[in-house]
Amino acid sequence: MTQKYVYFFGDGQAEGRSDMKNLLGGKGANLAEMTSIGLPVPPGFTISTEVCTEFYKNDRNYPPALAAEVVAALRRVEELMGRKFGDPANPLLVSVRSGARASMPGMMDTVLNLGLNDTTVQGIIAQSGDERFAYDAYRRFVQMYADVVMGMEKEILDHLLEQKKEQRGVHLDTDLTAADWKELVGVFKATIKKELGTEFPDDPQAQLWGAIGAVFGSWMNQRAITYRKLNNIPADWGTAVNVQSMVFGNMGNDCATGVAFTRDPSTGENYFFGEFLVNAQGEDVVAGIRTPQPINRVKDKDGKLPSMEEVMPDCYQQLVQIRGILEKHYKDMQDIEFTIEKGILYMLQTRNGKRTAPAAIKIAVEMVREGLIDEKTAVLRVAPNQLDQLLHPCLDPKAEKLVIAKGLPASPGAVSGEVVFTADEAEAEAKTGRKVILVRIETSPEDIHGMHAAQGILTARGGMTSHAAVVARGMGKCCVAGCGDIKVDYVTETFTAKNGVVVKRGDLITLNGSSGEVMLGAVPTIPVQLTGDFGTLMGWVDGFRTMKVRANSDTPHDSKVARDFGAEGIGLCRTEHMFFDAERIAAVREMILSDELEGRERALAKIMPMQKGDFIGIFREMKGLPVTIRLLDPPLHEFLPQEDRDIEDLAKTMGVSVGAIKHKIEFLHEFNPMLGHRGCRLGITFPEIYDMQVRAIMEAACELVRDEGFTIVPEIMIPLIATVKELQVLKQNAAAVCEEVIAQYGVKLEYLIGTMIELPRAALTADEIAVEAEFFSFGTNDLTQTTFGLSRDDAGKFLPFYVDSGILPEDPFVSLDQSGVGKLVKLACQQGRTTRSDIKLGICGEHGGDPASVMFCHEIGLDYVSCSPFRVPIARLAAAHAALSS
Ligand code: ADP
Ligand code: MG
Ligand code: MG
Repeated sequence: MTQKYVYFFGDGQAEGRSDMKNLLGGKGANLAEMTSIGLPVPPGFTISTEVCTEFYKNDRNYPPALAAEVVAALRRVEELMGRKFGDPANPLLVSVRSGARASMPGMMDTVLNLGLNDTTVQGIIAQSGDERFAYDAYRRFVQMYADVVMGMEKEILDHLLEQKKEQRGVHLDTDLTAADWKELVGVFKATIKKELGTEFPDDPQAQLWGAIGAVFGSWMNQRAITYRKLNNIPADWGTAVNVQSMVFGNMGNDCATGVAFTRDPSTGENYFFGEFLVNAQGEDVVAGIRTPQPINRVKDKDGKLPSMEEVMPDCYQQLVQIRGILEKHYKDMQDIEFTIEKGILYMLQTRNGKRTAPAAIKIAVEMVREGLIDEKTAVLRVAPNQLDQLLHPCLDPKAEKLVIAKGLPASPGAVSGEVVFTADEAEAEAKTGRKVILVRIETSPEDIHGMHAAQGILTARGGMTSHAAVVARGMGKCCVAGCGDIKVDYVTETFTAKNGVVVKRGDLITLNGSSGEVMLGAVPTIPVQLTGDFGTLMGWVDGFRTMKVRANSDTPHDSKVARDFGAEGIGLCRTEHMFFDAERIAAVREMILSDELEGRERALAKIMPMQKGDFIGIFREMKGLPVTIRLLDPPLHEFLPQEDRDIEDLAKTMGVSVGAIKHKIEFLHEFNPMLGHRGCRLGITFPEIYDMQVRAIMEAACELVRDEGFTIVPEIMIPLIATVKELQVLKQNAAAVCEEVIAQYGVKLEYLIGTMIELPRAALTADEIAVEAEFFSFGTNDLTQTTFGLSRDDAGKFLPFYVDSGILPEDPFVSLDQSGVGKLVKLACQQGRTTRSDIKLGICGEHGGDPASVMFCHEIGLDYVSCSPFRVPIARLAAAHAALSS
């Protein structure tokens, strides 16, 4: 069979279909589909994307067979329309429209009214009996063609039009006469000749091929190339070209053009939403030259402008009918374009409409109820990342806001509060019931308690992976980081925005962590809504997924949030945050500063009841769901004070010299703490620390089992294991404590001891490690750092450049590097299972909340992913998508 390049549509017949988007582009495929289902579509044809591909393969030459096919298709259009392209007496005019598979800004704009010249315009006057209309169409064509096909600077011709209006003393285009437009056409053409040195093409055939060539040419223009790169669209997709007979919305007051959504794209409500303009052509509706009118009165409260329902009731009723047909046919919300010529309605485009997250959910759930789609389709209709919008309070879109600065959208949500500049103040103010925003130049681990107490965090320095950003995301707390627009002055307790606004301690501000905006005053927010349609959809989600979802949580409060979001356990409870707590830090420092075992044990004995209390709180909130607790991980020096004043304070309370403390800090200093004395290495050198923690965990569990009838299986996790020997020693220590506590309480309690896999050596020797480990949890943050040999805290200087220039497809700390780090994870799973077939496998790095990474985890057969509480629904949905598409 010979290759076919051109696909005709018209009069109920079409050679294309909506499932031929790859070949015909989105616009062409849907024009064909609408034609076949009997909707009124002006006839035309689509030149396929294969022509685009061949065009570039053959040095910008068309396939030889193309011209004849275009002629033949044009013939069919002419026959249906009873007009001839280029005919002086009864000319056919067409539009030339680009249309790739995915809608793509950067492609050539549509050219309307093509086929006009000084001769054919006479034919249009004869057809329409309207000289003004004919010359208006003509000048629009010359303007558009010069701009999008010939590359003429748009402003030059626009300026000439303005001059003309001035000269005639009028304000509106509509006030110009046929003679004015006729004269302008001549002036336009002369100017084009002067500016470009080429004649404006008068021959309709030349015009047509010029426009077709411009569409294909625009596939490789810089704007389109950049857009494709940003959106991962392959260059070999190519674009299609649609040539379609013109219908006119600008032939008088019984004509109009408009756009509509079959349901409200921002709320999802099931009502017909759209705008139109009487006596207008094409892009006039969106160009903002005239204010468009609503198509109906449903949501239009002020009602100043007459609606289409009122002005053109017949066409409106027909459009309502088409709305129903389209939704039944496409089984999705449609975004449509239409034109009315002399009281007759024509459809010019339909596609699945873009929508907000709340709308996506509402539409999916309601369409299931209406019997249009099944639950599986509904679940697949909502993109996991879209949910992020819903899981945090957001600003009331109707509220007024005064933006004074913009930083990085580090952690989503919207919050208001009084400005404070230190973590201690944040905590103190929060205790009195005030809502505060912690503003820092940057944050450090010492600020954790203040970050916890604050509604939100604003930092002047640091990137998306800065301390503030990472910790805030983990807490599900709103954060704007790296806001270079503000200057923070701790001494005067103020910050100054670039525009000069000075914000003092106690002033109200609002942060939008989803956009990075900082606003003056308290802007009202809309709370999170987890019931209703959202709850219904998530119920279906849980029915489809096979992988479990847990949360990373360190406090009873976060654990409750996690459970409310549907977490099925805790995959990572970091115990160091409990050490940083302001009330405990003194005892922690005492422990670190003691040179003798005895002193350390004394200090640990003070911390132990507090840790036990934390664990009781968390176990209680989790109601018997699994909880994985990681023993202490960070290097000890992180717990010691840095500022002179704090060191002096500590010396005083501990009754030691400032020199002694400084000496200890120096002693503990590490050149590369990330690879230093941390994790299980602390457990090996100071076994009493882990012993205390294990005891606290086990006593907490035993107490709940004994006194409150809980069933709990604590999972004790040992971090940063590199060799099985480390785990052997530490497991033995831990098990001894466990058995001792169980015996002491006289209860029956099972427990698991397992490890993080976060070093390449651990992954490579997973078969050996699984002899000891009863579970693996992949710490993919550290595993990414150590596999790439790249420090997350220092990567900000070059990682963005790597991503921009395509050396890395994505930030590997955001989306798991599947071919490198992922390979290690996969290998470790296989190896681990060979030794211990029922080993529990999970992931607890930040990747646990990234949809692409979740899909990967499903594919390699992990039992669960664990992520920050606020991303639990995202992970649940991603896991369902993975299960449904595998
Ligand atoms: P875009 O991809 O930017 O939406 P289109 O190809 O849809 O561009 O064209 C933009 C507008 O031009 C359409 O919404 C429609 O109003 C108008 N238009 C395109 N083709 C025709 C036609 N054959 N007859 C009348 N108007 C048309
Ligand atoms: Mg369009
Ligand atoms: Mg780690």
